[in-house]
Amino acid sequence: MNANDRIIPIAVAPAPSFPSAAPAAPGEPLRDTRGRALRDLRISVTDRCNFRCVYCMPKTVFGRDYPFLPREQLLSFEEITRLARLFVVQGVEKIRITGGEPLLRHGLERLIEQLAELPVELTLTTNGSLLAAQAHALKAAGLNRVTVSLDALDPLVFQRMSDVNYAVEDVLAGIDAAAAAGLAPVKVNCVVKRGTNDDQILPLARHFRGSGQILRFIEYMDVGSSNGWKMDEVLSSTEVIARIDREFPLEAIDPNYPGEVAERWRYRDGGGEIGVISSVTQAFCSTCTRLRLSTEGKLYTCLFAQGGHDLRDLLRGGSNDEQLSRAIAGIWRARADRYSEIRTAATAPRRKIEMSYIGG
Ligand code: SAM
Ligand code: SF4
Ligand code: SF4
Repeated sequence: MNANDRIIPIAVAPAPSFPSAAPAAPGEPLRDTRGRALRDLRISVTDRCNFRCVYCMPKTVFGRDYPFLPREQLLSFEEITRLARLFVVQGVEKIRITGGEPLLRHGLERLIEQLAELPVELTLTTNGSLLAAQAHALKAAGLNRVTVSLDALDPLVFQRMSDVNYAVEDVLAGIDAAAAAGLAPVKVNCVVKRGTNDDQILPLARHFRGSGQILRFIEYMDVGSSNGWKMDEVLSSTEVIARIDREFPLEAIDPNYPGEVAERWRYRDGGGEIGVISSVTQAFCSTCTRLRLSTEGKLYTCLFAQGGHDLRDLLRGGSNDEQLSRAIAGIWRARADRYSEIRTAATAPRRKIEMSYIGG
């Protein structure tokens, strides 16, 4: 694969032209065409990963010769912080650092320190393999919480999902270290792929019951264009809940806030809480308040977007804060995305941005 080919899986359409609009008035939310307020920003800090999860970065596409972004194309920590500050002025209350694997980005705690000065909840999603060594420093830098991905407890199933030779114990040690460092409660995310790891639902539930960590099951999604997604490999959240309920009776609980993505359940015997994220079977586009900033500074208004807006061009082209704010406002105000509501067998094979590039 050469450098030009890289563009095919990740930036599949020409960047839309740059809208520009009045920023939100102080205290007023910025609303898109469907009335949704901008609240959450996900920032991807690397497109690289030390895992090759079959549903995200299959080795057939992300092989040894895959042309990841060269360093000079990544946004610097200073560029990220400058943009984040402008997003916060326009209503962003939560920032999640993601990737690729964010803990591979050298000196990440320096970025956390800079972002922690903003009035936001600051979280990070990681595969957990490198977390044990970094949890303490991340907490000290100002990180509030972590979400750790873990798709199996059984070593063979874990290996089949992640397609690398890390041990489940590394991830469990990362979760423990995060909790001990005060990054709690740790959320543990499991993507369920029917026929590959759905036999791990109950072992995971048994393991995390009563631990204080919150286990959440995510429906396998047709993100990107490389995972060969098929609807019959999706196991619905309804079925996940039914399987757990048969062994440990569950009851639904209220969301923490309107528009919360995970549906919350608790064990009737007081064993704690679990969650399900039904991205495929019960679309939640109508309350989607998320914006995604890619590793190289493109802004995406949907996980299933086919193109992004190049803020790095504006940043490096000398735009001032007002021009950047007007661009951000224009992009959000023009937003009409609702992919999960209109997903069909025909939309799934569309060329879309890869999850490892845009961030989960
Ligand atoms: N590498 C980190 C990790 O795995 O936690 C952060 C980035 S990863 C892209 C973010 C989240 O996206 C993970 O929880 C991962 O399981 C989820 N994810 C990736 N591909 C997915 C897919 N096809 N369907 C559902 N979730 C997916
Ligand atoms: Fe890496 Fe996370 Fe994607 Fe797995 S889900 S390949 S850990 S970026
Ligand atoms: Fe939001 Fe797009 Fe997902 Fe709908 S499909 S919830 S608009 S990211």
